[in-house]
Amino acid sequence: MSQVWNFSAGPAALPRPVLERAQRELLDWESSGASVMEQSHRGKRFIAMAERVEADLRSLLAIPDDYAVLFLQGGATQHFAQIPMNLAGEGGCADYVVNGHWGAKAASEAAPYVRVNVAASSQSDHYLRLPPRSTWTLDPNAAYVHYTPNETIHGVEYHDVPDVGNAPLVADMSSSILSGPLDVSRFGLIYAGAQKNIGPSGLVLMIIRRDLLQRASRPMAKIFRYAEHAAADSMLNTPNTWGWYLAGLTFQWLKDLGGLAAMGERNRIKAERLYAAIDGSGGFYRNPVDVAARSRMNVPFTLHDSTLDTDFLRESEAAGLLALKGHKALGGMRASLYNAVPLEAVDALIGFMRDFAARHG
Ligand SMILES: *Cc1c(COP(=O)(O)O)cnc(C)c1O
Repeated sequence: MSQVWNFSAGPAALPRPVLERAQRELLDWESSGASVMEQSHRGKRFIAMAERVEADLRSLLAIPDDYAVLFLQGGATQHFAQIPMNLAGEGGCADYVVNGHWGAKAASEAAPYVRVNVAASSQSDHYLRLPPRSTWTLDPNAAYVHYTPNETIHGVEYHDVPDVGNAPLVADMSSSILSGPLDVSRFGLIYAGAQKNIGPSGLVLMIIRRDLLQRASRPMAKIFRYAEHAAADSMLNTPNTWGWYLAGLTFQWLKDLGGLAAMGERNRIKAERLYAAIDGSGGFYRNPVDVAARSRMNVPFTLHDSTLDTDFLRESEAAGLLALKGHKALGGMRASLYNAVPLEAVDALIGFMRDFAARHG
């Protein structure tokens, strides 16, 4: 098979060494005679693995002891609803910063459980820029402040963690977690669907300050209560064992590569190169996002003549550059440059884009 590079927005590329190791271990995991998917999560082997995975994540992110790490299910979307159930009391309110598609969805899914105060929105700017922290109108009674550090569809990213005072800051990091160093202590709760930067879909990683686990006061089933998941070491019911295992392989891969500082530097270079190629294309390609708000992970771009889109997609796929079609809300193209996408892939994409522009310019 010739070399292909996968720029999918999600489920996204996994690191090649992770997939190769999973393949080697598939039929006989840790000399147990069976795959990791076919064993009890209550068994010694799985529990030891789960402890290792958490320890590796804790060391990667330097997670303080007063934070619990949970391995959950339901996708990020389920937690749009579950977070207000757990962090706000009945009749409470919460601040939402709406800086793209996912932030808007988080706010609307929260609405049945909490009074949503839209503290800032860039919808009228078509989400092409970010509402600066100085413009957020926070409610002093808010149970928490929710925002989306990286908006996967619109390709906008906050490069600094906003200061929101005493309210716990809640971040949907589905498309940016582990993409660089992070000061966990600035957050009350971080959550991420795994399928962008961690592993397969069906797993949700959550890092939650332990005092917030006690907040869930409304009646709800145990399965919705984060405190119950924490008390049961994320094994309240059968977890996504395969996703947990693959996440562990990804964490080890990140550690082997030098951790999040090294990964952050790699991601910075990848994004810089692609934006430079777009900006330097003499208008053939265009990224409409405010330069200061550009995402390192998701790079949407358009061709100067959209009738060339079909040719671009067909030819790029034939050249081994997969999944460049933009989200239907925006059209055009999108290249997602998650951790598992190496610099070589970005260089191959840039080479193709130059060649395509030369032939069609
Ligand atoms: C992909 C994505 C989601 C949706 O995740 P699901 O796991 O499909 O629910 C939510 N938020 C962001 C920022 C995303 O990138």
